[in-house]
Amino acid sequence: MSHSHKNDAHMADRAERAAKIIEQPEEYKICEGCDSILTAGAVTCPNCHSYRFDTDPQTVVTHAQLLGSRAQTSVTREDLY
Ligand SMILES: [Zn+2]
Repeated sequence: MSHSHKNDAHMADRAERAAKIIEQPEEYKICEGCDSILTAGAVTCPNCHSYRFDTDPQTVVTHAQLLGSRAQTSVTREDLY
């Protein structure tokens, strides 16, 4: 039971992180190598070591919204049945 509880906390954490990013998109950027959302101060991507980033705030918001909605849909549909 501790396993599913941990998973819920992780989902909430993702949604919260997404909301924070949407509030301040200038503080973040998107890795062009793997689509990760990184803080604006990152020099290279910790996932794929790319140094090419998309810093457009609108793009950052779109990615963050995707992250948040993905966290929500996985709770609703699959847990209903
Ligand atoms: Zn990357």
